[in-house]
Amino acid sequence: MGNEMYDVLIIGSGPAGMGAAIYAVRAGLKAAVLDRSPVSGGQVLSTYEVDNYLGFPGISGGDLSEAFRQHADVLGVQFFTADVQGVEDCSGEQTRYIIHTDKVDFQTRTIIIATGASHSLLGAPGERELAGMGVSYCATCDGAFYRKSTVAVVGGGDVAVEDAVFLAGICEKVYLIHRRNQLRAAESLQRKLLSLENVEIIWDSEVEEILGSEMVEGIRIHNKKNSGKDTLDVEGVFIAVGIVPDTSLLNDLVEMDEKGYIIADESCATSRKGIFAAGDIRKKPMRQIITAVADGANAVHSVQDFLNH
Ligand code: NAP
Repeated sequence: MGNEMYDVLIIGSGPAGMGAAIYAVRAGLKAAVLDRSPVSGGQVLSTYEVDNYLGFPGISGGDLSEAFRQHADVLGVQFFTADVQGVEDCSGEQTRYIIHTDKVDFQTRTIIIATGASHSLLGAPGERELAGMGVSYCATCDGAFYRKSTVAVVGGGDVAVEDAVFLAGICEKVYLIHRRNQLRAAESLQRKLLSLENVEIIWDSEVEEILGSEMVEGIRIHNKKNSGKDTLDVEGVFIAVGIVPDTSLLNDLVEMDEKGYIIADESCATSRKGIFAAGDIRKKPMRQIITAVADGANAVHSVQDFLNH
């Protein structure tokens, strides 16, 4: 373990972590960002177009992440590529945490958890077996393999609709399979989707099984309203049925809700002194890039308050 004691260590380099990092450095705190990936960005990296981040209309997720990183580099933010395996509370009179990673251990007075969330599984038969062989969770990463083919997207949120719009520009035909008759995605995304001739929305339907022996060959769907069943021939299935928080490294250190999101208010303070939660990992009503960045700033403000008292 290094001898250095950090004021704050930020775990995760998505928008929340990067927002926290620039505020921490500008506040003169001894700070660093830990991320298992050398490429910062988190979920934003797999977004092909971001249309609601102030000042950057229509920017790609990759470019926005790169802009965040450049900003952090200009300000001298320190980054470590390390996989965090656990957090140990060694507090005495003062808070002191040890962050265990696959490389070295770090000591810090406070922590900002900004580990975000990762994609949920659909849970349909065939999903695990055909993962990477036609089943994908990232349209921007894998979409190019399906040029001129027919694919299905499952889900009705922002990600599903963004993915369907993106894939419509590459594929011959895109089915969007949604379990209800109303999309959850932002109105502007829905309008874009509805304007596309090669997208067919299949309402009130669930995927019963993903079919194929070595590669995806189709999906069997079930209409919940009329109990009808159908088989669609598709070469790819893009699953966008929500996210699950990445809190495994915390064990029971902080209070979480029943879904595993960390309970913390706008101040980002968790139930444990010196640990703050920012971005998608936090229980909150709106998970957007802009709210994640704001959390990062708020969390640093709270860290400063905490260290000064
Ligand atoms: P989401 O908003 O939770 O939507 C998940 C969708 O999947 C919902 O339509 C849901 O259906 C459906 N679903 C869930 N479980 C299912 C199952 N087992 N079978 C079939 N369908 C299922 O998730 P998301 O689209 O991944 O977005 C995650 C968060 O990131 C959201 O808060 C979103 O607003 C945010 N986001 C922000 C931006 C941005 O800031 N630009 C971009 C993308 C995403 P129901 O509608 O019936 O529940």
